Amino acid sequence: MPKLTIEQLDLAGKRVFVRADLNAPLDGGVVSDETRLRAVVPTLQHALKAGAAIVLASHLGRPKGRAAPEYSLRPVAERLTALLGQPVPLAPDCVGPETLERARALEPGELLLLETLRFHPEEEANDDGFARDLGALADCYVNDAFAAAHRAHASIAAITRHLQPAAAGLLMQRELEALGRILESPERPLAAVLGGAKVSDKLVLVEHLLEQVDSLVIGGGMAFTFLRALGHDTGRSLVEPERVETARRVLETGRRRGVLVVLPVDAIVAAGPDSSSGRPVGVREIPGDQMGLDIGPLTIERFRRALASARTIVWNGPMGVFENPAFAEGTLALARAVADGPAFSVLGGGDTIAAVQRAGVAERIGYISTAGGAFLEFLEGRKLPGVEALTDAP
Ligand code: AMP
Repeated sequence: MPKLTIEQLDLAGKRVFVRADLNAPLDGGVVSDETRLRAVVPTLQHALKAGAAIVLASHLGRPKGRAAPEYSLRPVAERLTALLGQPVPLAPDCVGPETLERARALEPGELLLLETLRFHPEEEANDDGFARDLGALADCYVNDAFAAAHRAHASIAAITRHLQPAAAGLLMQRELEALGRILESPERPLAAVLGGAKVSDKLVLVEHLLEQVDSLVIGGGMAFTFLRALGHDTGRSLVEPERVETARRVLETGRRRGVLVVLPVDAIVAAGPDSSSGRPVGVREIPGDQMGLDIGPLTIERFRRALASARTIVWNGPMGVFENPAFAEGTLALARAVADGPAFSVLGGGDTIAAVQRAGVAERIGYISTAGGAFLEFLEGRKLPGVEALTDAP
């Protein structure tokens, strides 16, 4: 069901509550990466230009339901002031009489940033009374926080019971379009690449993707549980013994459905993730006292070939312990392979985004989602509370 978008709202003279994801990393009280702030600027500018006043709200970090200065949005207010070229005052709280008064005093073209939502435990509890108080701050609602859309929190879900219409912001709209394109009408062949640490985190995703994709490329720590399922000794590599049986079933399902499941044939092994170097061995020859920490050169070639013919690629998760340069080559080489090919590529998740940035190929990726958890849940075919709560398009 398509949802109402901000472009369909009449914003002139209105106060609009914009739920954004301004959860930027901080370093010494300063925003150290403003990607998330930049991502929401088009929506803010659109609303301001249309003659609205904005009540802007976000979470920041995990303050666990109490006010904590290190999770204040003040550094974000400062950076947004620079990005927008206009003052972004910070309200002392996200609810309460003073905030209500300041919201009501907003003139068209002005903006008020609310202090961190999660200072109140009611936010994460999706509390209805708290949502009503947030809703009282504005005349209509816009959600531009796709990265938080998998959370049924008060400012994301319950608020829409009190504040209507509820529309998708420009970023939310773009995310839904790009991700929807992969699931609904991808150009085929469609390939998925999965990596990262744990199979258990991504099992639902793997099973759902098996119904959609033409090939599934598996690297990273999670590959070793699959290699174990094939009967290989994996030494001290990351294996989830209780998932070996499931991995076997996934491989069987893939075979039955004609989905090509591509696994590593070699790995870079070392004593542990902090080792300063490793060496390539075949997956049948992993020494008992060593761990596989990256995909090896033969696997890089194999993955590259598997992806060369794809027309659409979706990728989440690193191919190795890429935080350590000794085990980063597999992930960086994969980033180059994805960028070099003709496929429309979509990726998400902090590690994967960091990888394409480090490989210097981010501009050649079709679409980079700002979301991690919501990206994965969307691909799992789950309904996201933050999307469900929006008003249906006319
Ligand atoms: P995830 O959050 O599940 O996407 O996992 C990301 C983490 O997986 C990164 O911190 C990587 O260091 C880690 N990782 C990737 N490959 C391996 C591996 N072969 N062994 C252990 N950890 C890995």
